[in-house]
Order: sequence, then C-alpha cells, then structure tokens
Amino acid sequence: YADAAAAVTALVAGRAGDWDLAGLIPEPLLRELGATGRLCATVPAEYGGPGWSSLAGGQFTAHVGSLCSSLRSVMTSQGMAAWTVERLGTAAQRRAYLPRLTSGELAAVGFSEPLAGSDLSAIGTTIRSEGGMLVVDGHKVWVTAAHYADLLVVFGRYGEGAAAVVIPADAPGVRVRRVADPMGCRAAGHAEVILEGVRLPADHLLGGDGLSLPLLVTTALAYGRISVAWGCVGILRGCLAAVASHVVSRRQFGEPLASHQLVARHVAELYVAEQTATRACEHASRCWDEGTPDMVGATVLAKHVGAVQAARGAATAVQVMASAGAQDGHVVARAHRDAKLMEIIEGSNEMCELMLAQHALATLE
Ligand code: FAD
Repeated sequence: YADAAAAVTALVAGRAGDWDLAGLIPEPLLRELGATGRLCATVPAEYGGPGWSSLAGGQFTAHVGSLCSSLRSVMTSQGMAAWTVERLGTAAQRRAYLPRLTSGELAAVGFSEPLAGSDLSAIGTTIRSEGGMLVVDGHKVWVTAAHYADLLVVFGRYGEGAAAVVIPADAPGVRVRRVADPMGCRAAGHAEVILEGVRLPADHLLGGDGLSLPLLVTTALAYGRISVAWGCVGILRGCLAAVASHVVSRRQFGEPLASHQLVARHVAELYVAEQTATRACEHASRCWDEGTPDMVGATVLAKHVGAVQAARGAATAVQVMASAGAQDGHVVARAHRDAKLMEIIEGSNEMCELMLAQHALATLE
C-alpha cells in the first residue's frame, strides 16, 4: 500500500487544516481518489477494487487518518456502503453497484434517526413494496459523507424484518441537509437525509429476505468499526509526529521540552496509546483476514481501544504543544475535536463496553 499512501499524501499535501476550516473537501479530489478504488480498498479486483486484505486496507486507512480524519470518514462510509452491498446484495447487485463505488461515485450509509441513536431497534424508516416498486419513507441524521454522496445506503423496516435500500441521492423525494458546524471531522459532509415517498425499482433492495434489524445493522457496522479503529491509529500517529518534533525543538528553562521528565511522560503516554491501538487493530484485521469466529468481538475491542486512546492521546498532544497547538487549523487541535467524536460513532464508548462485557461473560462462562 506504500504507493497508495504516497499518492494520498501528495493529494492532501497539508491542506487538511484548510478543509477543516472550510468544512469541505474538494469534490474532484474525492472522485479522483474514488476512481482508484482506494476509498473502499477491500473490494475485490473483479469489481474494480484493489482487493486488499483488512490488514493492508487498515494500514492505508491509518495513513489517511493521520493526514485528515474528514477524508478518512468519507472512506469509512464508502467502504461501509461497499461492504453492505458485498454482504447483503445478490451477485447481480454486486455487479451493478460495486464497480460504481470503485470508479468515482460516492456513497453514504444511514442508520441513525432522531429517535434511534444507540438503540437502532427503534429505527422508524419504512421500506415497502407497492405495485412492483419500493417506497421508502424516513428521516436519517448525521449521515457521514451524505453531502457528497451519489448513492445512499439506507436501513429500514421491511415487512416483519428489515432491509437496506440503495437510493440515488437525486431521486425524487430525497432531501439532504448538511449538519451545521459539526464539532469535528468538519469536512466529512455530515447531513440529515429526509425521505418522503421515495420510489425505487425493486432491485434496489438489499437483503430483503427476512433478516432481523440487529443482524443487518451489525453486518454493516462491523466494517465501520474496524475502519474507525484504524482511523484512530492514524489520529494518534499524527499527534505523535507533531509532538515528537515539537519537544525536541522547543526549549523552556534552558532545555528542550523533551528533557523535562513530566513532558517525557506525556510522550510515553502518547506512544503507548498509538502502540496499544495499533496492536488491537492488527489483531482484529487478522481475524477478518482469517475469518475467525472472534472477528466481531475483536472488532468492537479495536474500535473501543482506538477511540478511547485517540481521545486521550489527542488531549495529551494538545497539552504538550500548549499554545503552539491551541489554534484551529493545527493538527493536534483538529485531532482533539475529531478524536472525541470517535468515542460516539459506530457504537459509543458505553455501547462498546456493554458489548465487550457480554463478550467477556460469554467467553468466561
Ligand atoms: P444517544 O443514543 O442519545 O446516547 C446518548 C448517550 O447515552 C451516549 O453517551 C450513549 O453512549 C449513552 N447511552 C445510550 N443508551 C445507553 C445504554 N443503554 N447504556 C449506557 N449508555 C447509553 N449515523 C449514521 O447512521 N451514519 C453515519 O454515517 C453517522 N456518522 C456519524 C458521524 C459523527 C461525527 C457523529 C457524531 C454521528 C454519526 N452518526 C451516524 C450517528 C451516530 O451513530 C450516533 O450519534 C450514535 O449512534 C449515538 O447516538 P445518539 O447521538 O443519538 O446518542
């Protein structure tokens, strides 16, 4: 993935701070990157993707995350949309949609609603069949990348069970409204999506064979979690790089900051955070690549460890940089805001802890 990492470094080229302030990533850049398939890098080559392993895709995701969490968030959404199609779609649907997602079209995934946040069993969006067509009504909130998306993968109730649908963002009845001034990942294009009587051909339905809502949602979220976890590794690497160069160049009390032991401890904490998150992600990605039964548990663990370490590590980085990093546009200030949101999305800290407690109890039984 080294060539891909170098290419994305050249594309971002120190512009992430400006994108964050403007709240936008230039769309041509997203489409250019999308057309290389690298926004959803685990999609197999037969559908135009790079077909990377979870481990290689994860390392690339961490690299993007070290440069720009907004861009990494767009990648996570694109990858999650592709993964949902891969897992829930028929062979014909995979052939129809995946090549679009590896050739420059952009996608977003909507689960959350005003009354269904942590508790996705409360989803109220409905998908119904009517005269050979599908009709979708609902209201999704905080959909990452929806502002840029051509395709929206939306989860809803379908008959007695649940399903997802692929909705063209310009279909009649779809309204996309940006979230104003998000605290972090400001250029990730978060938006609410209002769906009023959206009519779609029947073959836009994914997984409509009576699957339960929790199973459907868990399938899609698993990809989002591993991607966010690697993104958190990236946040920590970005912070570590900024701190490492600052503490050797900035002098106080006649010495470089690094020779003050309390500052050195902060550096050690940041290094431990980065290493801990990396090991948890590597383990989870190996579980994905080997298809081990522990994959779901390892993924939740990686997401939780990554998010908590990134939030803590980014706060430490701001502390060490002090006034040098305490301004919008600085990498650690941005990391601090972005990392906090990682403790909320794809399963908040509390939701992850509940799942990990259940996992631990089941394992130790
Ligand atoms: P709530 O569910 O209201 O929770 C509030 C607090 O209570 C949280 O701390 C939560 O952990 C805690 N809590 C709730 N229930 C329990 C419980 N049983 N036990 C203990 N604690 C509990 N959604 C999408 O569908 N697609 C996206 O692409 C997407 N991207 C997002 C990007 C960002 C930056 C953010 C902030 C959100 C995004 N979301 C997205 C929405 C996100 O998934 C939800 O914010 C998240 O699931 C939490 O839901 P909520 O905000 O409604 O909080």
